[in-house]
Amino acid sequence: MKNYKSLLFIVLLINPIIGLYAQLTVNQDRLEKRITELAQFGIQENGETERVAFSDADLAAQKWVISELKEMGIETHIDFAGNIIGIRKGTNASKKPISFGSHIDRVPHGGNYDGCVGSMAALEVLKVLDENNVKTKHPLEIIIFSNEEGGVVGSRAIAGQLNKTAFPVKNSTGYTIGEGMMRLGGDTTRLADVARKKGDVAAFLELHIEQGGILEKENLAIGIVEGIVGLKWWNVEFNGFANHAGTTPMNARQDALLAAAKFIIAVNEVATSFEGAQVATVGRISAEPGAPNVIPGKVVSSLEIRDLSSEVIEKVYQEIEKRALAISKASGVEIKFYALDTTADPAIMDSTIQKEIEKSINSLGLSYKSMPSGAGHDAQDMALIAPTGMIFVPSKGGISHSPKEFTSASDMANGANVLLKTILALDKSL
Ligand SMILES: [Zn+2]
Repeated sequence: MKNYKSLLFIVLLINPIIGLYAQLTVNQDRLEKRITELAQFGIQENGETERVAFSDADLAAQKWVISELKEMGIETHIDFAGNIIGIRKGTNASKKPISFGSHIDRVPHGGNYDGCVGSMAALEVLKVLDENNVKTKHPLEIIIFSNEEGGVVGSRAIAGQLNKTAFPVKNSTGYTIGEGMMRLGGDTTRLADVARKKGDVAAFLELHIEQGGILEKENLAIGIVEGIVGLKWWNVEFNGFANHAGTTPMNARQDALLAAAKFIIAVNEVATSFEGAQVATVGRISAEPGAPNVIPGKVVSSLEIRDLSSEVIEKVYQEIEKRALAISKASGVEIKFYALDTTADPAIMDSTIQKEIEKSINSLGLSYKSMPSGAGHDAQDMALIAPTGMIFVPSKGGISHSPKEFTSASDMANGANVLLKTILALDKSL
């Protein structure tokens, strides 16, 4: 009887704690309100927002985020790369931080959700923990990365990957990356101090809008990102023979543009010829001499291939090369490939973290699928130094990098709840 009583006592004691964790959810209205508030920084007369990195609007938004964090008692500073870093202390001094966040800069003529959802959800997670007096073993670190849209600059700096050659590159504000970093409160001469090593961060999580239409189409709440695809770029040169378009018979031509047209179709056919999520694109083409009455003698086109696996990228490229050789033989047009420096290795998300995200989704009763990210994110560089996971929420109509970008408040809250639960689960398991 005595044992039974003490067991009952323990159950009664533990139950509210389990209950608290089970019920801990984000405040959807507050999250939506913050998204609206953030959109005020850079708002134009037409109601759309412009907030390219280093702009006055970007600086004002940065100040606002810092004040919101400080209000919650989060120790906040700007690092030498212009990232906002906020730390909520943990109870175990030996633990490395669990980090999470996204970015608040935008592409020109962008939307209110890309980067903003992950950033405002990170604030909301901290707020919920604060309100409920939840202590974590690990310090929790919020990172709002600087200049994501200008080449994931803030996260590259943290991963020790930022090359000084990037500094002179200007964005649409007229400031270079170097000048912009100083403007944000960073210091380009001290970037080495920002770089972190493997093991400095216990885990990194980023919530982001999908920027594609798969989740909406399949009516799913959450995407578990398996990895961020790598990409490779080439210039493809087609050398034919420019000649009179009136006097050269059809069977005596070396039409570079015609060969390029066949090439573009071949690229599409190769990419769709086998199972997988690989994509290949010709996005730019120019023909010389570019006159209606001259057979094009020279064409330069781009070629881009993306996939989660470097081997698949190589396989697609080799197939495309084979098809190009056949087109070249049949048309008498020489086709040459020039590989460009623009490459990114695939970034694979940590499998343990993917499983924790899945558990969090299941505990919330949400629908989901695992998927690659076709777009680049700060998480791809963080994956170089820490076990990393990404959570996607639906983008209406698959539209992104546009003022028409939209994600509903309930979708954002679902993603933020998955983020919150996964942070708490990792705090226990790591
Ligand atoms: Zn983004």
